Amino acid sequence: MFNKVLIANRGDVALRVIRACRELGIRTVAIHSTADTEAMHVRLADESVCVGPPAAKDSYLNIPAIISAADVTQADAIHPGLGFLAENARFAQIVEDHGRIFIGPTPHQIAMLGDKIEAKKAALAANLPIVPGGIEPVSGPEAAIAAANEAGYPVLIKAAAGGGGRGMQRVDNPENLRRAYEIATSEAEAAFGDGSVYVEKAIEQPRHIEVQVLGDGNGGAVHLGERDCTVQRRFQKLIEEAPSPVLTPEQRAYVGKLGADLAASIDYRGAGTVEFLYAGGQFYFIEMNARLQVEHPVTELVSGVDIVEAQLRIASGGGIGFRQDEIRFNGHAIEARINAEDPENFTPSPGRITLYHPPGGPGVRVDSHVFQGAMVPPYYDSLIAKLIVHADNRPAAISRLDRALGEYAIDGVRTNLPLQRRILASDDFIQSEIDVVWLERWLAS
Ligand code: ADP
Repeated sequence: MFNKVLIANRGDVALRVIRACRELGIRTVAIHSTADTEAMHVRLADESVCVGPPAAKDSYLNIPAIISAADVTQADAIHPGLGFLAENARFAQIVEDHGRIFIGPTPHQIAMLGDKIEAKKAALAANLPIVPGGIEPVSGPEAAIAAANEAGYPVLIKAAAGGGGRGMQRVDNPENLRRAYEIATSEAEAAFGDGSVYVEKAIEQPRHIEVQVLGDGNGGAVHLGERDCTVQRRFQKLIEEAPSPVLTPEQRAYVGKLGADLAASIDYRGAGTVEFLYAGGQFYFIEMNARLQVEHPVTELVSGVDIVEAQLRIASGGGIGFRQDEIRFNGHAIEARINAEDPENFTPSPGRITLYHPPGGPGVRVDSHVFQGAMVPPYYDSLIAKLIVHADNRPAAISRLDRALGEYAIDGVRTNLPLQRRILASDDFIQSEIDVVWLERWLAS
C-alpha cells in the first residue's frame, strides 16, 4: 500500500479519500486554493499545500503546481477525486511520467473513454447494445442529415468530447437539422476545443441506469450492481438510488454483466461507471465514466464494498480483492444531492453557513465538507452535501430519507432541501413512474 497520497481535489470527495486513507494508515496531502484555506479537507489531511488563487484553472486545475506539491511532500500517489483533473489523460500521463501513481485508469483508457465515439466503438466490440446511430463523427451537415435519416428521427446531435450535457441538440425533423448541427458544432468547439459531433437516435422518455465496475487492469472485472439516476434536471442528477426500482432480477444481472464485460474487454483499471439509457425494456450504452462518481455511496451501502478503498488497493497492485460471486447485495439506498442554490430558480447561493445541523440516526450517512461557519465559495460547484440513507426496502428508504431531510438544518445559504422533500413526496417518484425529463415537466406543471 502507499505511504502518502495527495488528493488533487476539494469538497466532500477530498474528505471521502482522506477518510479511506486514514483507515488504511496512509498519510494524506491536501491541496487547496486561497479560497479554501479554512476548508475541511485542509483541516483533516496530514499536510496541505496551497496551489494557487481561487479560480479553478489557477489552482485545482494547475498541473505544474499540483505536481510540485506532490514532489515537495513526497507523495507516492495522486488521487484525482472527481471533476477537475479526474478525466484528464494528460494529467494522468504527467503524474506517471513523474514516477508517481495515478489512482485511476491508464492515460490511454481515460483518453479513449473521454471520446464518446471511441467509447461507443469499444462497447460495440464488447457486444453491448448501443444507441442506434453513427459511430463515426459526421463530417458536415450533409453527413449529419444522412446519419439522422439512418438513425430515424428524433435524433440527438452530441459532442464527441461531450460532458455535462453540453453540445447536445435534439432534432425532431429534417428541416431543423442543419441549424442544430451548426449550434452543436460551435458549442462543442467552445466548450471542449473539439467541434466533432455525431448523430444518434433520441431515446424517448428513457431512464438513466448505470453500472459500477471495478477492473484490475489485466482483464479481470466485477460489477457492484446498478444505480438508477433518473431524477435529473438539465442532465444533472439530483437523486440516485440502488437498486433500480424498475428492473427484474434477470435484467439486473444482465446489465451488471454488460458493465463488467466492457471493463474486462478494455483491461480497465480501477473504478468506473458504465452508463445506459433504459426504455421499453431495452438498455442502450451511452458512455463510460473513468472515475469515481458523486453517487458511489448508494452502491457502497447496498454492496458493502468500500469503492475508494478498492481504488487504492487496485492502484497499489493489490487487485480487486474479491470475486463477483462474493458480493452480496442488501436493502435499498437513496442519495439526495444537497446543493447551495436557490430552490426556485436554481441559481447558486454561495456564502457563509451560519447554522448547520446534519441529520443522524439509523441508516443515515452524510458525506459533506461543510460545517457551521464554513464558507461556500462562489468559484466551484454548488454541491455542499450528499445525504444517503440505507434501509431494508425502498418504501422504508424513502421514509428514512424524508425523515433525515426534515432534520437537516442549514442557514446562511439557500439550499434545495425543500425541493428534495417535495420530490420524495410526489406520487410519480414514489411509484417511480419517471424518466430523465420528468423533473422538468413536473416542476413546470
Ligand atoms: P454528458 O456526458 O454530456 O452528460 P451523456 O451521454 O452522459 O452526456 O448523456 C447525459 C444525459 O443526456 C443522459 O442521462 C440522458 O438524460 C440524455 N441523453 C443522452 N443521450 C441520449 C439519447 N440518445 N436519447 C435520449 N436522451 C439522451
